[in-house]
Amino acid sequence: MAAVSANEVLTQSTEGWHYTLRRSRRARRLRVQYSPENGLIVVLPQWASRADGEAFLCAQRDWILACHRSDPNGLDRPRPEHALPVEVVLRATGECLDVESVGDLATLHETLRCHAAGVLPKWVGHHSAGTGLGYERVRVRNQRSRWGSYSSKGTVSLNWRLLLLTPDMVDYVILHELAHSRHMNHSGAFWQLLESICPGARARDGAFDRLAYALLPAWSRL
Ligand SMILES: [Zn+2]
Repeated sequence: MAAVSANEVLTQSTEGWHYTLRRSRRARRLRVQYSPENGLIVVLPQWASRADGEAFLCAQRDWILACHRSDPNGLDRPRPEHALPVEVVLRATGECLDVESVGDLATLHETLRCHAAGVLPKWVGHHSAGTGLGYERVRVRNQRSRWGSYSSKGTVSLNWRLLLLTPDMVDYVILHELAHSRHMNHSGAFWQLLESICPGARARDGAFDRLAYALLPAWSRL
């Protein structure tokens, strides 16, 4: 069996079918594949959400049931290497959360988002006090494509997945967003400010996504 790709996660449909969601950079449209070896796979183009994948799967119900008749066990068999974790190590805080009782991917993500909402606002407060860079409030969100943002109203939005990264990476994202309180762009002045409070910021920014991606487990990516 092929190794699990970084862009895949096993999940379960409302019908109870186990299937793999696979995000593809090249795919233009949603599609469903089935084979006895790999089971049911829903391929998502970059623009599609997980909910789009689920809706598309439901729309292909008749075709899937036809597959099911030809391979009666194929749709009910989870592949263990894709399964949801029983515990989650949060590198950012050094905690290990027991998530064995969390039944599905969406609930797991929401559980971790709530946990992050108890941790990250204090972290922002600490760096705000240390740098004198202000903000109004912190929101912790379930964003797939962004680590953080800073709105014109002073809202720092952070991705709960930061808890899966190292503490210095969380420091970097928070300092980056706080620096936007002075410069709402990535101008030379922005980088000058950020370098003054976080030496090496520009180099760190260039390598950030690659390093972060390598630390994210498959179940956290969709
Ligand atoms: Zn920025």
